[in-house]
Amino acid sequence: MIVSPKIRGFICTTAHPDGCAAHVQEQIDYVKSKPKLENGPKNVLVIGASTGYGLASRIVPAFASGANTLGLFFEKPGSEKRTGSAGWYNSAAFEKAATAEGLFAKSLNGDAFSHEMKAQAVDIIKNEMGGKIDLVVYSLASPRRTDPDTGEVYKSVLKTTGGDYTNKTLNTDKGEVEEVTIGAATPEEIEHTIKVMGGEDWELWMNALSDAGVLADGVKTVAYSYIGPELTWPIYTDGTIGQAKKDLEKSCAQLNEKLSSLNGEAYVSVNKALVTQASSAIPVVPLYISILYKEMKEKGLHEGCIEQIERLFADRLYSGDAKLDEAGRIRIDDWEMRDDIQSAVAEKWKTVSNENFSEIADFQGYQDEFLKLFGFGLEGVNYEADTDPATGVPSIAE
Ligand code: NAD
Repeated sequence: MIVSPKIRGFICTTAHPDGCAAHVQEQIDYVKSKPKLENGPKNVLVIGASTGYGLASRIVPAFASGANTLGLFFEKPGSEKRTGSAGWYNSAAFEKAATAEGLFAKSLNGDAFSHEMKAQAVDIIKNEMGGKIDLVVYSLASPRRTDPDTGEVYKSVLKTTGGDYTNKTLNTDKGEVEEVTIGAATPEEIEHTIKVMGGEDWELWMNALSDAGVLADGVKTVAYSYIGPELTWPIYTDGTIGQAKKDLEKSCAQLNEKLSSLNGEAYVSVNKALVTQASSAIPVVPLYISILYKEMKEKGLHEGCIEQIERLFADRLYSGDAKLDEAGRIRIDDWEMRDDIQSAVAEKWKTVSNENFSEIADFQGYQDEFLKLFGFGLEGVNYEADTDPATGVPSIAE
C-alpha cells in the first residue's frame, strides 16, 4: 500500500509503518550517541509507551542502560486494507530494534485503566522479567477513563476553571492565527478530568505492583506534568487539566510514603511543551509551541521528547541529584522556562498575527514535527514505495 498523510483537524488518520520505524530509529541513534547511563534501570514498565514522552521513556532505558522493557499502550493495529495507528508501528519498530540487541521487550495493547491490564503486566513481570521491576514510568494521555470498579465512564475536558477565556490560537489546518474563546468547566467536568488525568490510576498501578511483590528495592516511579507560561495558565495550569496535574502531585506524595519501605522514590517531572498527539489538541498551545520552537532553536536550546527524556534520566533520575523545585518536582522544562526565552516569547505573543506569523513563529517546524509523529517526512524513507500496513508488534499475537 502507498500511504500518505490524511489530516483531519488536529489528528492524522493514517500512519506510515516505515516512517514510524525511521522515527524510532532516529531516537535510538540519539540515545546511542550519548554516554551510557551509570546505575540506570534494568527492568522497566512504561504505561503509555507507544508515542510522545512515553515512547522516549522506553527507548532511553533500553538503549542507554540495556533495560528489559514492558510497554503498555492503547493503539490500533493495521490490516491489509487500513493503516494502524502510529503508536502501533512505533512499538513494532521498538521491539524489533530492542530484541536485535538481545534486550527483552514485550508489549501489551489494551486499556491501562482496567484491572485486567494490571494483572497481565504483573504476570509478565513475574514470569518473564525476573520477578521485579526497578522503574515505572506513567505517561498516559487519554480523553476518557472507565472506572475499573464501577464501570462509569469519565471524560476529560480542556476548559478553564474560571470564566470564559479568549486568546490567540493557531488553526493548524489553515496555518492561521485566530481568536478562540474557551468556556468554563462545570464542577462535574473538573471532577471528571481529575478522574481521567489525575493520579488515581497511577496509585492503582503502584498498589497493584506492590501488592504483587514485583517492585524492586529502590524502585523509582515518575509521571509527567506541565506548567508553562502565564499566557497558557487559564487553559492549562489553572484549567481543568491543571487540576488533574495537581492531583497527580498529591498522588506522588502518597506514593513516596508508600514506597519508603522499599527505599523507593516517586517523582512528578515537569516537561517541556512539545508537539505530540496529546498537545496538538489543546487550544492556544500549538501557537505558543510554534513561537517557543523558533526562540529555542535560535538559542540552540531546542529539544524533542527524546532529548528531554535522555536529560531527565541522565541528569535527574539517575544522577544522584534530581534537583527538585520548591514543590518537590523535577523541572526538565528549565530551558523552556528560562527568563530570556519566556520574555522573548511573551513579546512576540503580543504582536503575533497572520501578517508576521511566518517570521516570528516556527510553523514549518511545528508542521514537520506533527507529520513526523505519524511517520511522514522522515529522511531515507521512500514514500512512493509499497509499505505493509499489516506490520505487527512481534510480542502481540493478533
Ligand atoms: P501521547 O498522546 O503522545 O501519548 C499517550 C500515550 O498514552 C500513548 O502511548 C497511548 O497509547 C497511551 N494511552 C492513551 N490512553 C490509553 C489507555 N486507556 N490505555 C493504555 N494506554 C493509553 O502524549 P504525550 O504528550 O507524550 O503525554 C504523555 C504525558 O506527558 C501526559 O501526562 C502529558 O500531560 C505529559 N506532558 C506532555 C507535554 C507535551 O507538551 N506533549 C508536556 C509536558 C507533559
